[in-house]
Amino acid sequence: MGSRVMDLTTVCHVVTTMTVVLLAVAVTSFGLPVNKNGVIAVVSSPWGSMTSPSTLTQEFPRGEGVVEEDNDDDVITTGDEDFSVHRNAVRNRTRRWPGGIVPYVIDKAYPDAARASILEALAEIEADVASNGSKCIQFVNRTTEANYLEISLGVGCHSYIGFTESDNGAVVSTLGPGCEKKGIVMHEILHILGFFHEQNRLDRDLYVDINETNIAKARDFDIRNETEIDDLGVPYDLDSIMHYGAYHFAQDYGYPVMSPKPEYAPGQRLGQRVALTARDVLKIQRLYGCPEDTTHVRSDLDDKLIMFCDFAFGTCNFTHTNPNDAADSAERTSNTGHDALAAKDLKWTVKLGPVDNGPWSGYSNGIDPFLFAAKGEDDGQTVAVTSITTPALNTQEAGGICISLQLYQQGPSSFYSLYILGPSIPRQPLRIYQGISRYGWLKDEVKVSLVPNLDFQIEFVATLHEGSVSIDDFFVFKHECLNVS
Ligand SMILES: [Zn+2]
Repeated sequence: MGSRVMDLTTVCHVVTTMTVVLLAVAVTSFGLPVNKNGVIAVVSSPWGSMTSPSTLTQEFPRGEGVVEEDNDDDVITTGDEDFSVHRNAVRNRTRRWPGGIVPYVIDKAYPDAARASILEALAEIEADVASNGSKCIQFVNRTTEANYLEISLGVGCHSYIGFTESDNGAVVSTLGPGCEKKGIVMHEILHILGFFHEQNRLDRDLYVDINETNIAKARDFDIRNETEIDDLGVPYDLDSIMHYGAYHFAQDYGYPVMSPKPEYAPGQRLGQRVALTARDVLKIQRLYGCPEDTTHVRSDLDDKLIMFCDFAFGTCNFTHTNPNDAADSAERTSNTGHDALAAKDLKWTVKLGPVDNGPWSGYSNGIDPFLFAAKGEDDGQTVAVTSITTPALNTQEAGGICISLQLYQQGPSSFYSLYILGPSIPRQPLRIYQGISRYGWLKDEVKVSLVPNLDFQIEFVATLHEGSVSIDDFFVFKHECLNVS
């Protein structure tokens, strides 16, 4: 057997002592509770214990609460030298699927929604790499083919690299609970088609810095030598669906493992599990000798975002209110050259890190800014309360929204809340976070069922008894949250 890529679930990242209190109001839409204003059903936290009204529906039907950012990537090389496996694409062309045709079977144990997501991923890859109706890769239901792709419901996310004439004929991609999100499936299927991770490329040190001492175990951060690697003449791609994120497989999640070179860092995320990039598509077309055509490849987030802020270029029109001293909100400070949201007792500032009693760096790429607030020691108050609120947003479409954010707390006795409000929505809490003791960024996703064309704002309230709080990668998606970082 040849090499195998493992995209394991690292459970340790998910386990935390944080308590998430889940609050919701009711009515009916999609079978979920919604109130009379057409708002809300709150769902799903990957974290620890939470109280949830019995009317709620779990976003993760298996209750696994897997955080997809952690569902990544480990390579196990079994040491069979007969298979000459190369990175980023297999140089050995016998590892291509003959004719670009991939017969497949999907484990019958998948729930319908997971199966649909897997099929959607296969269809999207086919469509992305096709040109003028001429297919490059075709996924077909297996009938009698001797060698085929078997998509198996196991534990974690891991896949073989390329076509293999294995003994039992099956080339296995294991997609466990939490791995059936479309973008993760696409990542795994690119392994199956013959691709390794982007950071295995010979030229990667020109584009990323790697903190070798913070890599957990023997993960897939190695550069392969030039007899193995084939970059297919496609430039390095920091956005690639095959690139690791900044904190993937960190030994210490307080620090990134990998970040873009500073000249590439501003506004640049590292990897994603949303869609193939134009360069991902070009590599498949070149490996399989297909017509090269990326003109139809969509930007991965087109039409999927209502709001996004990674604080790379400021505070994105968040407004600041301070319940303790509203009149003070005009104060502005900045120590980074970015704008800031300030208050007398709590100052929201865009920081680049490292920050005393706060993050070493932002989450988006490990070398980026984030929004930071600390309780002043000289403010004479035992508790500082402050909030930031998004600009006015609109749901636009049916299907609800999903809020995703990265949160970093220093000081376990403080707590935080997410609220929703609007002209026709009474202000009401979506989440209360309490007692975060984990060191490092934590991601939360909150799915909210809202009627179309509804005006709303999201408010984040911090109640600090001590320490600081930081936010990064704040997204409001249409429908479902996507694994952007
Ligand atoms: Zn992988």
